[in-house]
Amino acid sequence: MEANYILVRFGELTTKGKNRKLFTNRLLKNTKEILAEFKQLTYDLQHDRMYIILNGANHDAVCAKLKTVFGIYSFSVAYKMEKELELAKKAVLQIIENNSGKTFKINTKRADKNFPGKSQDINREIATYVFHHTSKELKVDVHHPDILVTVEIRHDAIYVMDNIIKGAGGYPVGVGGKALLMMSGGIDSPVAGYLTLKRGVDIECVHFAAPPYTNELAREKVLDLVDKLRHFTHGKIKVHIVNFTKLQLAVYDHCDESYAMTVMRRMMYRISEKIALKNHCLALVNGESIGQVASQTLNSMQVINEVVKLPVLRPVLCLDKLEIIDIATKIDTYEISIRPHEDCCTIFTPKAPATKPKSYKAEAFEAEFDFETLVNECVDTVEEIIIDDNYKKNDDIF
Ligand code: ATP
Ligand code: MG
Repeated sequence: MEANYILVRFGELTTKGKNRKLFTNRLLKNTKEILAEFKQLTYDLQHDRMYIILNGANHDAVCAKLKTVFGIYSFSVAYKMEKELELAKKAVLQIIENNSGKTFKINTKRADKNFPGKSQDINREIATYVFHHTSKELKVDVHHPDILVTVEIRHDAIYVMDNIIKGAGGYPVGVGGKALLMMSGGIDSPVAGYLTLKRGVDIECVHFAAPPYTNELAREKVLDLVDKLRHFTHGKIKVHIVNFTKLQLAVYDHCDESYAMTVMRRMMYRISEKIALKNHCLALVNGESIGQVASQTLNSMQVINEVVKLPVLRPVLCLDKLEIIDIATKIDTYEISIRPHEDCCTIFTPKAPATKPKSYKAEAFEAEFDFETLVNECVDTVEEIIIDDNYKKNDDIF
């Protein structure tokens, strides 16, 4: 007997009242796109759960991908069968034989009250069958079993389910609109993107490059990071690459060194906001964390933030660097982030940036030159790349 179903539970979604249909439909759509490579799968969306029908697909491979879909609370590999207890017994035995655990518990739920026998009696009958047929040394443990097998007797069929696997949690990506993530090659911004996606907000990314000061490897690093993040979406993320060189050099020509960082970041914010508005993004997101560097004191943030109207989300604002690194490791971006390639910010870092900049001074420097034309040029010449399943299968982008 082969596992033929995966049962998916929504968790947090159950509290969402009338928005529920919107959520479950989006979850179905995202799941289908993440699992697109398994062409034989079919789906059955119900009120309180979703079934993925395997039709012969390898359940371990499907489960590995399913773990990154936000909005899924938990899931279980399941065997669906006709309503005959003998079949259920065989499925339970198979699950226990395939598992390395030594203790088990059977939990029967009888949704169809017409099915003969009490749940407790069915549990006992199946356990007896397992003990007679198993090749393993087994014990029943009702409190902390290694293997928990659930037998659900529903009106249409019996479902026998393997251990519950924890899902990614959060909300389905897209139900919360879309935001523009400012993506450097560092550790923090991919984590900020992941946390935003977890709340159901879809993302596009903007990256500021300063060729020839930054090279192709820096660009590849950013795209590799986006490639990791896309597994937490519906499989696809758009990246906007801004050529920032001319503007950055102009900032360094016309601003006092202590204000170059502040003015440069004000320019980044302005350009990001314009790109966001053009692409229906409702907020900016970045990886700023209070006090990490000179541009991330509250004073700096205030002077930098005031040039935009869109809300700026900072999901890692209050996390310690070690907490951010923990998440980066979990989502597999850390190893990419620590590759040693130059970011435009690190190349042009002034020696002593102001930690308490003043708005009027930043404005005075900005009045000395026609920055607006260069800002618009950056927006007009932005390069758009879609990172999806074809990434690195197609050499054109490098
Ligand atoms: P990270 O680890 O994300 O690079 P950081 O601690 O190095 O962050 P900064 O370099 O000061 O901090 O950047 C703060 C935030 O500004 C980043 O998290 C990112 O959101 C944004 N940012 C910085 N450089 C770039 C860039 N070249 N392109 C796009 N966004 C950037
Ligand atoms: Mg950085």
